[in-house]
Amino acid sequence: MNDEELISEFIKVNQDDNKIRLLVRQISWPHPHEPRSHWTVASVLPQASPPQDVDAQIQAILENSQYFKVCQECARRKPRGWMHNGNICQSCAERNYGVVY
Ligand SMILES: [Zn+2]
Repeated sequence: MNDEELISEFIKVNQDDNKIRLLVRQISWPHPHEPRSHWTVASVLPQASPPQDVDAQIQAILENSQYFKVCQECARRKPRGWMHNGNICQSCAERNYGVVY
């Protein structure tokens, strides 16, 4: 998944009369094998914000380690909920360390 795909799957822009809200989809694992996702508001901009401000905010969300992390082994950016720990993603944990998800 490249950044563009991450943005289309995990970040959405909601606009109402007053504000532009940037939402990020976060994944949690209440039970093993049963991921759950929910949208949280990551950022709020004035309704009149120019598109480049919105894009800059989207980029900032991607780079915010609260939401996304870059895996040290495959160097791909992943949603936080797909990380095995703070450094490597679940795919790499499975492939390289025999961890079963
Ligand atoms: Zn990885």
